[in-house]
Amino acid sequence: MINCCCKNYFIYFCPKVLISCTDGTDRSIRFNPEQMKVLKFGGTSVGSAERMKRVAELINFPGKRLVVLSAMSGTTDQLVKINQALGRKENKEAVKLIRELEPRYFNTIESLFKNKEQAAKASEIIRGHFDFLLSFTQDVFTIEEEKTVLAEGELMTTEIFQLYLEAIKMPSALLPALNFMRINENSEPDMPYIEKHLKKELSKHLHTELLITQGYICRNPFGQVDNLKRGGSDYTASLLGAAAGADEIQIWTDIDGMHNNDPRYVPGTYPIAELSFDEAEELAYFGAKILHPACILPAQKKNIPVRLLNTLQPDAMGTVITQKAGGEAIKAIAAKDDITVIKIKSERMLMAYGFLRNVFEVFERYKTPIDMIATSEVAVSLTIDNNTHLDPIVKELKSYATVDVETNQVIICIVGDFLAEKHGYAMKIFDSLAQIPIRMISYGGSKNNISLLIGAEYKKAALLALNKGIFQLGGQK
Ligand code: ASP
Ligand code: MG
Repeated sequence: MINCCCKNYFIYFCPKVLISCTDGTDRSIRFNPEQMKVLKFGGTSVGSAERMKRVAELINFPGKRLVVLSAMSGTTDQLVKINQALGRKENKEAVKLIRELEPRYFNTIESLFKNKEQAAKASEIIRGHFDFLLSFTQDVFTIEEEKTVLAEGELMTTEIFQLYLEAIKMPSALLPALNFMRINENSEPDMPYIEKHLKKELSKHLHTELLITQGYICRNPFGQVDNLKRGGSDYTASLLGAAAGADEIQIWTDIDGMHNNDPRYVPGTYPIAELSFDEAEELAYFGAKILHPACILPAQKKNIPVRLLNTLQPDAMGTVITQKAGGEAIKAIAAKDDITVIKIKSERMLMAYGFLRNVFEVFERYKTPIDMIATSEVAVSLTIDNNTHLDPIVKELKSYATVDVETNQVIICIVGDFLAEKHGYAMKIFDSLAQIPIRMISYGGSKNNISLLIGAEYKKAALLALNKGIFQLGGQK
């Protein structure tokens, strides 16, 4: 059964190249990275038996495929709660939370497997995972074990899914991500390690075209279980695509691609057909929740197209992210919430050098990234989206400057291809926003982004006004 739409069929159809081998073996299906696609399905896409069945249909096409799955939706949140209870030594509460998670998995098994033996096999495996989780409530819990608990969601989900593929006779194999996904001492992906070990793992399955693995989870340099941080499965997919030199990375979600504006606030938004890597990265970082921003870079480095597709509407074009920027100059508008602006003013800055370095060093010490920045001769304003270390940062800055802090701000980000030699973009944007008080502007930092800071109360009005001014789309939502 080739259950896929025409669009997919044409994309995926690529003739096998027969390599004549001196030892006489048929190497026509030898691992050939150029012919591999990486497909990632998020938690909601595998969130129930029905949704898993749908994924099985979507991945049923010819060619080498590496499928990356997140944990069933809600699982990682629940595992976080279990960790918190264990951390507080509330082991009874932890047991209760683990028990709450169980029916979700066992009900999924019941709906997926018609055959009793297969259902029993899946149940036994999942029982083992829950017993493993329960074992943490029997003993002293250490911080290191938190990551092991968090990994259980992806491990259980992929096991159930791959057993289901076996049950419906789709030849496939499960690749343990913990054998090849690894971060280094800076918590960055260890690419040489990933490449080497992924290839080793792939070479064990030369004759299996469909491979399933876990997103999000990895090991640290000490070999302990770790992860790529929340929402990290997209990142796994692009790292694996890059490591294997795949010819396409597909991120499947419940939206038909990246939209030109925020559909929660603005009516009539539409998916952007094409984006460049740079544009997509800005958009992912500044608001479009559909994609983990870190996942662009590995694909960009290897020039592998990233396609955003919708499991609920597989025929929709979605968004394709490649090297080239196509279409309109202004592609999209996004908003990033919960921004804090810090205004630093000091006479010492006047005609002095080194002042900004001192300011940046404070943020570096507290590992707090800066999003936007605007300077004048005696003042600098900057924004952050993580207030964890706000108090000590402000305290240090106050030792040599006047500091004002305002929370509850929003960055409105206009993404596109703003070529330096073209004019009129800024006018279009500011004309649209004539009625909105703008707190900060950042233009020219990158040719793909114009950012504005406004109070949160103006967010919706700003998104609507830009929609009208830039895309000539009216209406309220
Ligand atoms: N399961 C992980 C999370 O919920 C990773 C992911 O879904 O991408 O954050
Ligand atoms: Mg996600």
